[in-house]
Amino acid sequence: PLVLGIETSCDETGIGIVRGDTLLANAIASSMDEHARYGGVVPEVAARAHVEALRPTLDRALADAGVAYDDLDAIAVTSGPGLSGALMVGVSAAKALAISLDKPLYAVNHLVGHVGADVLRTGDEHDPIEFPTVALLVSGGHTSLLLARDLVSDVELLGETIDDAAGEAFDKVARVLGLPYPGGPQIDRVAASGNPKAIRFPRGLTLPKDMAKHRYDFSFSGLKTAVARWVERAQDAGEEVPVADVAASFREAVADVLIGKAIAACRDTGVPRLLLGGGVVANARVRELAVERAAAAGIELRIPPLSLCTDNGAMIAALGAQLIMAGYKPSGVGFGADSTLPVTEIQVR
Ligand code: ATP
Ligand code: MG
Ligand code: FE
Repeated sequence: PLVLGIETSCDETGIGIVRGDTLLANAIASSMDEHARYGGVVPEVAARAHVEALRPTLDRALADAGVAYDDLDAIAVTSGPGLSGALMVGVSAAKALAISLDKPLYAVNHLVGHVGADVLRTGDEHDPIEFPTVALLVSGGHTSLLLARDLVSDVELLGETIDDAAGEAFDKVARVLGLPYPGGPQIDRVAASGNPKAIRFPRGLTLPKDMAKHRYDFSFSGLKTAVARWVERAQDAGEEVPVADVAASFREAVADVLIGKAIAACRDTGVPRLLLGGGVVANARVRELAVERAAAAGIELRIPPLSLCTDNGAMIAALGAQLIMAGYKPSGVGFGADSTLPVTEIQVR
């Protein structure tokens, strides 16, 4: 089926078009620059930017794919989780399109969409992912470890962050080090010339154990505070802050925790496959550790192209197409934006 996907859960306006498991278009507009001076995504700013970017991004996707509205078999849209106001823009647009074009509408889960990104064929050597798989989704808004036994019918949450998301921690630590937003790429760049063993930052949950609800929950706020304290102490002592060493040591701690838990989850569940998704996948050390440890554990590592790792509409279209191919009925038009939609709700009816 030819499916158009709409994604507006955070700061990317994404419109993707797929035919089955073939990617035809992946048009993206981002409001990231508008959030720079606030040091993080501002919900109202993101929602307004979606309103402005939606039409031009839609036009671009249709042109890139070389298809017309009439050709489409269905519309898919992210209905959650994410920022309420931002989600509402995509949901409203999807309903308007579906009703006016008289096309079936599929409301889908953003996190499961990240997993769906990897069913797309991209290039000659990247075949669609097989299931089951464990998925580690790490971005500015989420840090989740999922077990997808089947993409359209059986996804379980193994763990998530109980405070900051991994990308958010990168952004906050960058601010402490005087680096601009978004901090992830900056820390990654600076860390390249630093010593990752210079400072041993905390790895584990520093909060009481009972705060973790799942076996593989993450916590990054203790780590962020530890870095801030370390930098403050150095400054108070009149020492020059070794920015590269702090960045490298912090990056090492995050990568170690993320990949350590993901590989442990594969081992404990007996699933021989690990998929990475989200903007933090761009991190050089995260990728390197994933490659190393997956190989050592005999686990197949799946890393989609970065344009399909960060938020995009193609992954939403891909999940919609999979639902259609599995025989699922469209969603009604009664659904809304659900900022806390659980991963077990793959499609909202
Ligand atoms: P969502 O959480 O809804 O997926 P988002 O916009 O917060 O959306 P992305 O756009 O996927 O997330 O990713 C942005 C985040 O990824 C930012 O926090 C950014 O700092 C981080 N990031 C990007 N590149 C790197 C990198 N090389 N190393 C570490 N973090 C990075
Ligand atoms: Mg983003
Ligand atoms: Fe996302």
